Amino acid sequence: MKIICVGRNYREHARELNNPVPEQPVIFFKPDTALLRNNKDFYYPDFSQDIHYECELVLRIAREGKHIQPQYVPTYLDGVGLGIDFTARDIQQACKQKGLPWTLAKGFNDAAPVSDFLPPEQFPDLQDVHFRCLINGQTRQVGHTANMIFDVHYLIAYITRYITLKKGDLVFTGTPKGVGAVAAGDHIEGFLGEKKMLDFHVK
Ligand code: MG
Repeated sequence: MKIICVGRNYREHARELNNPVPEQPVIFFKPDTALLRNNKDFYYPDFSQDIHYECELVLRIAREGKHIQPQYVPTYLDGVGLGIDFTARDIQQACKQKGLPWTLAKGFNDAAPVSDFLPPEQFPDLQDVHFRCLINGQTRQVGHTANMIFDVHYLIAYITRYITLKKGDLVFTGTPKGVGAVAAGDHIEGFLGEKKMLDFHVK
């Protein structure tokens, strides 16, 4: 499986990192080895001093699709979950300054904690989903998918013009404002609506 991520999909998050609001989705990959499941601990890596959390709605793909038309996107989804797009911001910043790819800043081991998945039927309108991220019990990010620059249907249609999605692939849909650094000892919790989906520690 592969993990496809969308960058800068919420205006206020693009602004908080001084990035332009994109005219088309910003797409990048994480390898399957970035996946961290079952709320296992995240071990702070030795190559960065500035790991940031980015809490995001994550979609799981139900079957192979290419050139998916926006109106058929729901038939290609079999799970809705929550994930953290961990980012080595110091490495990403150095890459951005040189115009180089973000691969190591985004794709390192365990850089993609992902919750269990809920049936898409529980989300009749994917552009009306609330989610939030707490660090040490304090709310740091409050997301509402209505604020996406590119909605879920557009994103999946856009991605599959270029890249075939297959069963089990995951799509991170971008983070709202409020990203920040984590440190060893932090407790990360993520809620989809009122349901707790993520609950793990940084070691
Ligand atoms: Mg992100």
